[in-house]
Amino acid sequence: MGTPKYKRVVLKLSGEALAGSEGFGINPSVIKSIAEEVKEVAELQVEVAVVVGGGNIWRGKIGSEMGMDRASADYMGMLATVMNSLALQDSLEQMGIETRVQTSIDMRQVAEPYIRRRAIRHLEKKRVVIFAAGTGNPYFSTDTTAALRAAEIEAEVILMAKNNVDGVYSADPKIDKSATKYDELSYLDLLKDGLTVMDSTASSLCMDNNIPLIVFSFTEKGNIKRAVMGETIGTTVRGKN
Ligand code: UDP
Repeated sequence: MGTPKYKRVVLKLSGEALAGSEGFGINPSVIKSIAEEVKEVAELQVEVAVVVGGGNIWRGKIGSEMGMDRASADYMGMLATVMNSLALQDSLEQMGIETRVQTSIDMRQVAEPYIRRRAIRHLEKKRVVIFAAGTGNPYFSTDTTAALRAAEIEAEVILMAKNNVDGVYSADPKIDKSATKYDELSYLDLLKDGLTVMDSTASSLCMDNNIPLIVFSFTEKGNIKRAVMGETIGTTVRGKN
């Protein structure tokens, strides 16, 4: 077995990824299988930070479409990511992997507050760090959180594990049968062609800070490790043009 290509990665898991086939809530067996994959990577001495979404429980947009104040609805979304993060932490710790959750909204009884230097220290000690509560600001997404935290902790790459698609396509492959998958493209391509792999705020942040992104399916077991080892999977979005 070779050596991992990356020493420090940010793994972005969407909330939906934790829901399994029900599409809602937290599915314990799905969480367990994700935790097993994270464990595999952590055991390679790769420093893993995880950003978890909340869409399996709540999305701010839904609330605001129902007439709620957008900021309040977004705070609910951020709280949803905390529940997901605690579930993932529990699964990892049951497997003997030391894990810390850091939240961008203070809730000291539940988890540590986000402190960049402390997060880096945990990573250096090979603890998995889960960044919860998004950026702590409404009107943002957990994709943007992944981009922001990756820049802050100087991660070499963002691994975006998807449960419904195995890379970036020229169009939605479920709707358009002629859609083709890209092996590689740039953030400028994403933004120019309106490809919705991540929102434009997240894409711009990655582009400006030269952070590459690998989009892949994690329904295929072992893909997180493959990505970390540098095997070509899914689609790579280059940091530089
Ligand atoms: N959210 C937010 N600010 C952030 C991150 C998330 O307001 O910095 C809210 C937003 O309402 C979003 C919800 O949290 O809809 C869940 O996050 P996201 O939609 O990114 O989760 P995912 O799609 O990855 O499951």
